[in-house]
Amino acid sequence: MDSKEMLVQGSKELGIVLSDEQVSQFYQYYQELVTWNQKMNLTAITEEKEVIVKHFLDCLTPAVNFDFTTCTTLIDMGTGAGFPGIPLKIAYPHLKITLVDSLQKRIHFLQEVTKGLGLENVECVHGRAEELGQNSIYREQYDLCVSRAVAHLSVLYEYTLPFIKTGGVFLALKGPNVKEELEEGKKALQVLGGQWKQTWIISLPYSDITHSIVQIKKARHTPTQYPRKAGKPSKSPII
Ligand code: SAM
Repeated sequence: MDSKEMLVQGSKELGIVLSDEQVSQFYQYYQELVTWNQKMNLTAITEEKEVIVKHFLDCLTPAVNFDFTTCTTLIDMGTGAGFPGIPLKIAYPHLKITLVDSLQKRIHFLQEVTKGLGLENVECVHGRAEELGQNSIYREQYDLCVSRAVAHLSVLYEYTLPFIKTGGVFLALKGPNVKEELEEGKKALQVLGGQWKQTWIISLPYSDITHSIVQIKKARHTPTQYPRKAGKPSKSPII
């Protein structure tokens, strides 16, 4: 099977039908990723099919169980090279997205790549979750927050829940074993105004990889003292 078929069929399996334009946006993104990766550390995975499966399809897996057409504003916390925010934006062009990372050079890459792909309504923000979460421009402004491979849930809730409107959703893309993290994160979730809704196990197409997606509802406002100052959530998680 060629890589294009993997992208198109794999997306279909996840419930997404890609147009030719969307397919070419994914390929352009791939080209930019491997080109910039020679100058800066963006991804350890560079082989075409592997990027399609382990980055692109992986980032689209929440679509199996979550209807992105119900949301307008999305923030991707600790997006790195744009995961999962950019694949989701390509698949759901109606989304207004904010990509956040604490590394300036990654933000520069994201600005160039989103401009090159012609993606509209994308804001690339350099900053730490702990600081932006106290900024009224971003605080409790989003319908949806997504995050992949950034921190344990007990820490991640403090990085993400302050950005979500009451009634909004947080989707955490996690590895196969999330049970312990969920247990450990219970107190932080409660303190920060979140409520666990469901955890789904997903089989990644064209691989033997399974992973979990944790869906949290933002049930109440986050108390104003959270997020705490930079470094504090990871040094002293709310447990
Ligand atoms: N989400 C991407 C992915 O799945 O490929 C990147 C994952 S990478 C392991 C973690 C990213 O989170 C890094 O780019 C790092 O700079 C960013 N990050 C870590 N802590 C952060 C914080 N407190 N605020 C904003 N970004 C943070």
